[in-house]
Amino acid sequence: MKCKVGVIHGPEVLQYSFPDYHPFRSDRVQRFYNEVLPEFLKNYPGHLVSVSPELATEKDVLLYHDVEYVEFVKRKSVDGYGYLDYGDTPAFKGCYEASLYVVGSTLKLVKMIAGNQVKHGFNPVGGLHHARRDRAGGFCIFNDASIAIKYLLEVMKLKPVLYVDIDAHHGDGVFYDYYFDKDVLIADIHQDGRTLYPGTGFPHERGGGDAEGTKMNIPLMPGAGDEEFIEAWERVEEFINRFNPEFIILQAGADGLAGDPLTGLMYSERVHRYATSSLHKIAEEKCNGRLLVLGGGGYNRDNIVKAWREVLLSLLTLPEE
Ligand SMILES: [Zn+2]
Repeated sequence: MKCKVGVIHGPEVLQYSFPDYHPFRSDRVQRFYNEVLPEFLKNYPGHLVSVSPELATEKDVLLYHDVEYVEFVKRKSVDGYGYLDYGDTPAFKGCYEASLYVVGSTLKLVKMIAGNQVKHGFNPVGGLHHARRDRAGGFCIFNDASIAIKYLLEVMKLKPVLYVDIDAHHGDGVFYDYYFDKDVLIADIHQDGRTLYPGTGFPHERGGGDAEGTKMNIPLMPGAGDEEFIEAWERVEEFINRFNPEFIILQAGADGLAGDPLTGLMYSERVHRYATSSLHKIAEEKCNGRLLVLGGGGYNRDNIVKAWREVLLSLLTLPEE
């Protein structure tokens, strides 16, 4: 079976790029645009569609972020110097607009998927999972994943939403800001917090209050590879099987692949195929295929090309039983 997949593609999202020698610069996404997308557009005509980036409105951002924080980002975006957090996330001129393109593009795919214009979507510059309601963190200014979740719950009335995060870093922004929300199911496989930023994501954290049991953390030690990931993934599938999500979001950071300069995991790109194919199948069974993938991290540029290529392949085709 072949599916119609929308991919965010346009120079606007390249504006989300930190200056100087920062690891998160737009040459990451540019490599994907140069080396992966043209081949897929040629090989999957009518199935892979290029979707132009879109600006979010301030109202969209305020679904999740605090107004004081949004005003702070606006001011820093005009100044263009200093940091938005304690030293990982520098301000740059235009960082407010650049962030609005990330959020707007993720929301555009949410609407296209929910409106059946495409079956699945991929925003390579999305998945900024460390930003909190009131602050930036870990290269993330506005949390497009968290905003998309709020939009799905409050505007589209689709719930529960399932958020799965396989970035090497724990998705602390999404995880803790929805910790007490039973309509947000979260499974997060990441490098153990005692060995990597942001230092969080422990197995005993399963959701609070009446959301107890709706969250799952699986930390892996540095050096863990495909075998450990696949074992962990079995537990993720068991977790998901207890629920009936109406929309699924995957944060598919490529920084768990061996050779990433920031992390110690040793996955191959098979992990991205495995996780995306599994969620693709689950989405078809449970929620009419509604699956959105966000690019997330990944700082070895060759790994980005390899991992996100597998993501696209797995979204475009669903293996027959
Ligand atoms: Zn990461």
